[in-house]
Amino acid sequence: MSNQFQEQGIVTVPYIAGDGIGPEIWQAARPVIDAALTKAYGHTKAIEWLEILAGEAAYTQTGTWLPEETISAIKTHNLALKGPLTTPIGEGFRSLNVTLRQTLDLYACVRPVRYFSGVPSPLKEPEKTDMVIFRENTEDVYAGIEFAVDDPQTKSLVALLTDQFNVHTIRFPEDTAIGIKPMSISGSQRLVKAAIDYALAHGRQTVTLVHKGNIMKFTEGGFKNWGYQLAETDYPDQCFTMAQFRRLIQSNGEIAAQEALTQAKADGKLIINDVIADNFLQQILLYPEKYDVIATCNLNGDYISDALAAQVGGIGIAPGANINYQTGAAIFEATHGTAPDIAGSGKANPCSLLLSACMLLEYLGWQEAADMITSAIESAIADQQVTADFAGLLPGATCLSTQEFGQRLIDTLSR
Ligand code: ATP
Repeated sequence: MSNQFQEQGIVTVPYIAGDGIGPEIWQAARPVIDAALTKAYGHTKAIEWLEILAGEAAYTQTGTWLPEETISAIKTHNLALKGPLTTPIGEGFRSLNVTLRQTLDLYACVRPVRYFSGVPSPLKEPEKTDMVIFRENTEDVYAGIEFAVDDPQTKSLVALLTDQFNVHTIRFPEDTAIGIKPMSISGSQRLVKAAIDYALAHGRQTVTLVHKGNIMKFTEGGFKNWGYQLAETDYPDQCFTMAQFRRLIQSNGEIAAQEALTQAKADGKLIINDVIADNFLQQILLYPEKYDVIATCNLNGDYISDALAAQVGGIGIAPGANINYQTGAAIFEATHGTAPDIAGSGKANPCSLLLSACMLLEYLGWQEAADMITSAIESAIADQQVTADFAGLLPGATCLSTQEFGQRLIDTLSR
């Protein structure tokens, strides 16, 4: 997707500063991004920032939480950088973030998770965690259909299931709520394709399909099977799947299967495997080095993203992007919430937004500027010049305000 941008010296990027700590992390981050672009490219490449409104700022100025102009600006430029947004209560929105993702069909939630040396972490060896999560963004519980316990439709649904679908496993049919989650071949395969393409483009070793297919055989089990099918059908020369491995054990025996796996690795093939979600949450704590690119369904991805972010230092530093690889539309965003408890106090860490901006720069093909910002963050953390969230956990560290931290990065960039 970057090629269309590489030719362009100036790219317009709509931005939503966001609610709560959004404006302060944006004010700290923007000059850092601009400074990195100037340092990397002189004045031959630059971002023209276009403010668009969503959340409280939009509501105050326009009376709507998500104005039509905001959606059309993102559609026009196919890009946006976004701070955290508050969820309006009782306004008919599930959440503004979810609405944006669904409106633009941003089906892949991409979360790179790596450790920055010096960040306080609960793990003994946090540097072993280096994964990129591809979480499906349009199906599963995001498209979940729920029927409330006191809704008359629920009674009809229970009757339909019992009488016409021969379902007799609803334990308390008189007072049950019902949830339905759709998961499709098309939705699962486009997500797995995004993960495989990323892994191949970045020289990664494995793609792990994380699912709960042992219990939900047709939805989550389907996700796993369709993922394997896609890899075998569309990438026969580039991938070797553990489904192939298991079939080889059946047909040719364990030794032949092991030999085929060893040969596939020697040939540099991408290995596609799968892990049950609950086991995966243990594995990432015990053996994080075994995992690389992760492709997973919506709800599992929610748990995994936050668990992995906590392993490497928490939500203040975890970047994210929501991308439709078919249309190219992409929103890069801070993954944390609005943090109302610290809003306006200068304690917010701008790294999540900044590292999301680095993902945007990479998407534009402007890797050099992205690398400069990443190095400046590495240098500030290594020198223990950090914001309050980290300083509180690092004895002897210098606690910088959000703005001071941004300035520290600019100072590093201008050396
Ligand atoms: P929301 O309702 O918007 O989800 P929240 O406060 O419930 O907001 P988060 O914003 O994700 O959820 O915050 C959880 C905790 O992490 C809070 O204590 C918050 O102060 C802290 N936190 C979140 N983001 C940052 C950040 N960028 N820098 C420092 N601390 C943060």
